[in-house]
Amino acid sequence: MRIKCFLPHVRMPRTASMVFVDLCFREQSLVLWEYDGGHLASTYSALAILSILGDNFSRVQKHSLLMSMRKLQQHDGSFTSTHMGSETDLRYIYCAVAISVILKDWNGIDKGNAIRYVMSCQSYDNGFGLSPGLESHGGATYCAIASLFMLGCIYMDPLSKEASSTLFDVKGVIKWCVQRQTKSGGYQGRSNKDPDACYAFWVAGSLHLLGAGHLCNVNALENFLGKCADKHGGFSKWPGETPDILHAYYGICGLSLLGKPQLKCLCCKLGISTEAAEKLELLSQV
Ligand SMILES: [Zn+2]
Repeated sequence: MRIKCFLPHVRMPRTASMVFVDLCFREQSLVLWEYDGGHLASTYSALAILSILGDNFSRVQKHSLLMSMRKLQQHDGSFTSTHMGSETDLRYIYCAVAISVILKDWNGIDKGNAIRYVMSCQSYDNGFGLSPGLESHGGATYCAIASLFMLGCIYMDPLSKEASSTLFDVKGVIKWCVQRQTKSGGYQGRSNKDPDACYAFWVAGSLHLLGAGHLCNVNALENFLGKCADKHGGFSKWPGETPDILHAYYGICGLSLLGKPQLKCLCCKLGISTEAAEKLELLSQV
């Protein structure tokens, strides 16, 4: 498949991107505009962008960011996204965990409480819902699996005979994920829903983290994503729709998981390239 960039003629200079992200920093966390409060998803996104751009985080007020984040954790272990209040669900657990990994500091999170909350979100069919009792969902399942992976609850090779999870049925989650690949080759986010390009990352990524990436029908998924690729560039959520940034990003992430040689390898747990993730490792050695 030939992969076109999204809006290839519009490129934000690297330094300008850094300045924009830098402008979004405030005393406690990251904000999108001057009078916005900090938001966990914005914070994760900004740190991921800085990682990709190779920033050294010298301007990140790490201590206050983590102390602010810790106050967002609720008694049940979940996180709310802002100090003004919002939903509390697996998305923000993932953001808090990813932020801790990027900053290499777990002082902003009660890990045990977070793990308990993640496990409380597992549904009867072994997938994960966004909150306890909710329907299993591909995005929520990725947030749960990636969080548990980064929290050290999943072995590097979870399907090996030696490894066994006392927390959850690994094979059961894998089965749920495998069943999300539809006849069209694309993954659906929930049972009986249409396939959507972004789940090439959320669901195939979960399989990858569980050591079961080989259970993805690679040719079928590539064929589906090829139909979602717009002739003018980018990916739409399903064939024939207008492309958008989110589906372009996760469509490309999905192709990277398939091992396309023209794409960088993906660090599945953080949603950035392994090259960017390796820069984080180098930062810790400075
Ligand atoms: Zn989508």
